Amino acid sequence: MTELVQSIYIHIPFCLRKCFYCDFAIATISQQEIKERYVDTVCQEIALTAQRGANRATASSSTNVASLRTVFFGGGTPSLLNPQQLGRIIDAISIHFGITEDAEISLEANPGTVTTSSLQGYKAIGVNRISLGAQAFQTELLDYCGRGHNVQQIYDAVQSIDAAGIENFSLDLISGLPHQTLEHWQSSLAQSIELQPKHISIYDLTVEPDTAFYKRYQPGDRPLPTEEATVEMYLLASAELIAAGYEHYEISSYALSGYQCQHNRNYWLNQPFYGVGMGATSYLQQQRIDRPKKLRDYFDMVDIWQDQGIAPTAPKVSLTEELIDSLMQGLRLAEGLNLAKLQQKYGEASIEQVLDCLQPYFQKGWAKITDIPEPRLILVTPDGWLFSDQITTDLYESLTKQDASTPS
Ligand code: SF4
Repeated sequence: MTELVQSIYIHIPFCLRKCFYCDFAIATISQQEIKERYVDTVCQEIALTAQRGANRATASSSTNVASLRTVFFGGGTPSLLNPQQLGRIIDAISIHFGITEDAEISLEANPGTVTTSSLQGYKAIGVNRISLGAQAFQTELLDYCGRGHNVQQIYDAVQSIDAAGIENFSLDLISGLPHQTLEHWQSSLAQSIELQPKHISIYDLTVEPDTAFYKRYQPGDRPLPTEEATVEMYLLASAELIAAGYEHYEISSYALSGYQCQHNRNYWLNQPFYGVGMGATSYLQQQRIDRPKKLRDYFDMVDIWQDQGIAPTAPKVSLTEELIDSLMQGLRLAEGLNLAKLQQKYGEASIEQVLDCLQPYFQKGWAKITDIPEPRLILVTPDGWLFSDQITTDLYESLTKQDASTPS
């Protein structure tokens, strides 16, 4: 079976400091030699990944090395690498996979780490979309989170993006921060809209284990906003951004017409993708492969792959697991999932089971099947999206229970 891969994610783990809520794979390292070695290792991993795809093509199944339509530098703080370093990675991707002329090439950046000149450099190597981690427009809230920037630096970064001639940029905001009030939130939304980003992503703070926040705060306790307040923030964001002309196209994402994030759509459609770099996950040939989350271990992994030919691997995702992933991801999108295609791929019995499990939610009006232009399964906003965790947990439990009771 041939699979078509259209996206690549490259993890750049460097950060100036660790934000208090962060549980991503990062390294607070500033030495240029380590960054250079990291870039070399990522380029090496890209070459090895392409080689493995080519080897597969001679075996029973193959990965089709078509030109990539999306390239995403995430982190970490990718803007801590200079244009020359990122350019080397883009060159490696071009050589081994090819990048389409009109590809979306995104770079995550933090305020305080970009200048007009660095952004001009990123544009020159092909970056055409910047995702800026603004998070809040109150310097005291940014300080509570241990963010390494202030509000003025958000404005400076947007001005630099504009001066560099990169018209497509996205802002990230976080709701549910400690000490955040509805007034703060309304003001952050208003200031974001004023900056006219093409896209806005909004995340509700989750206090994750192994973070500084986890030691300080209990979910639901002050100074975290109450659950009712975070629901109000969600509804306010949706109302204000839709009124400002944004489409609420995914649970956490808003875009002006024509500016949905194509890279993230690939995830939500549960399509395969390359993933390279420390802590990155790839999804190829039904295998979700996680890379080590520590720099030294990641370097070792690529060395062993290069020297001994031992590539990282993972068990194949079963058909039921694939269906669960498709539901969990696809139900995040306003457009939902095409029921006929689901039936064709996973069989009528499985989809019957999905619909049975969703019956209570159909009755509450939180989920529905739309008919135009074809039957699609969607969660109905706002309740379907507000309770999406509960709905997808139910689906997960129902489908895994069935899977376990099916004789193999
Ligand atoms: S900048 Fe982003 S990746 Fe880096 S520590 Fe903060 S939240 Fe984590």
